[in-house]
Amino acid sequence: MIDKDYFTLATGHFTIEGRSRAGHETWFRIPDLHLGLDVGRGADALVGVPDLFISHAHLDHSVGIPFYAGQRQLHGTPGGTIHVPSDAVAGFREILGAYERMSGARFDVTVNGLAPGDVVRLGRAHEVHVHAATHRVAANAYEVVEIRHRLRDGFESLTHDEIQARRAEVIEEYRRSLLLYTGDTDRGMLERNDAMFRTEVLMMECSFVADGHQERAASYRHIHFDDIADFADKFENELIVLTHFSRRYSRSEIQEGIRRRCPAVLRDRIRLALPEAYQRL
Ligand SMILES: [Zn+2]
Ligand SMILES: [Zn+2]
Repeated sequence: MIDKDYFTLATGHFTIEGRSRAGHETWFRIPDLHLGLDVGRGADALVGVPDLFISHAHLDHSVGIPFYAGQRQLHGTPGGTIHVPSDAVAGFREILGAYERMSGARFDVTVNGLAPGDVVRLGRAHEVHVHAATHRVAANAYEVVEIRHRLRDGFESLTHDEIQARRAEVIEEYRRSLLLYTGDTDRGMLERNDAMFRTEVLMMECSFVADGHQERAASYRHIHFDDIADFADKFENELIVLTHFSRRYSRSEIQEGIRRRCPAVLRDRIRLALPEAYQRL
């Protein structure tokens, strides 16, 4: 069966692949960063990815965890870390333990609990910073930060060899926010989190786009596009990728609905997490 919602989207520095529809399935893979964001129903594309960051325990984002663990075991791929909100860590370990008991398998994956404020180092050049999302259950947003190096001010005249010899003294580390993924959240995050407005690529849920669905968005603790429009002047991002659209809308209804409501200041920077014909407004 052809997957009508599968997409790939190139940003300035990395490519995002995945599919995302509210209540059905959400997962993304960013090969350039060696990580996955949510796991959906157990996407094949994520099995080889060493770190998965799960936003919250709702089934459409997390039910694929045992499949990920089992496929890695089947293929003999060691390790694999599934980062989840701390409140959900015991539950996910129980689920994996139950599968191990019932199937006689031994999974090699680690379930790692994360709370807002935590930082995970990924390789030499990246960190993931954990933020609070505002949703019906404990939910994390994840920010990927790149660690870079530059010459301190005042040392511009040094030669290459001199810089190497005095590295610790003349080179400084700095950080650049590449990506922030909100997972499921409501307008509370727009009110309370400033990091999301400054990251290079913001991946934000936008479950609802149509007239009359504003109250539904608020009561299920999701975002309606009008919430985003209310904060239009705050977004400094290069790209804003909207995800997690309700299945009640067709792909062209989503594109049309957002195009009609979108403030001019956001129009060129918005991308929809849908196949290419529907990505731009
Ligand atoms: Zn969801
Ligand atoms: Zn949810």
